[in-house]
Amino acid sequence: MGTNYTASTTETTHGSGNGGSLMWPWEHAAVAYIGYSVVTRVTTGETPSAGPVIALLVGSQLPDLIDKPLAWWLQLLPSGRSLAHSLVFALPFVTLGVWMARRYRRTDLGVALGVGYLLHLPGDVVYPVLFGDRPAYGFLFYPFVPREGYVESDALGKITRLFGDFLGFLGTPRGMMYLSGELGLLVVALWLWVWDGKPGFSAFSRRLRGAIAG
Ligand SMILES: [Zn+2]
Repeated sequence: MGTNYTASTTETTHGSGNGGSLMWPWEHAAVAYIGYSVVTRVTTGETPSAGPVIALLVGSQLPDLIDKPLAWWLQLLPSGRSLAHSLVFALPFVTLGVWMARRYRRTDLGVALGVGYLLHLPGDVVYPVLFGDRPAYGFLFYPFVPREGYVESDALGKITRLFGDFLGFLGTPRGMMYLSGELGLLVVALWLWVWDGKPGFSAFSRRLRGAIAG
């Protein structure tokens, strides 16, 4: 196990190199929304409201928004799934978020942010299984379980390469199955959101209209 892999060998550290072992932002958002909507309906008997849904979606992206720039651009972390993907960081961070939200009497926002954040992690753990790889648990215990280190000198090239690999993968038989599952996930999330009364939509469209009107 080295600590200075080149860009080309990083693909082998991401499963089978088909690019699909990276869970995409819209998939994290869909998983978070389905989980949050079901839990909200079951525990409160109500549908999610706009503010918490926005906090949920932000939370569902935060681990990647923290780790990937720090690893791919600034090279301060060994992997795009390390610090913010670790329970060592995530649990105190989410607890702090809920505590701060409580102080401002918006516990619902803190809880939604925390749910989005925590649902991101199992998504990344089980995602490689879809591509015939083993579940990835290691990052949950970073830094106690070290991540395979690499230096990525070309972050933009990496994203382009991952996306290109992903498009190529979609053309394979396994890729077609994946695409059906992906569409199913997005349709369920969208259907649930519409059923919930499209929380956040009117606030978003109001802002958009305001921005266009100047
Ligand atoms: Zn992630």
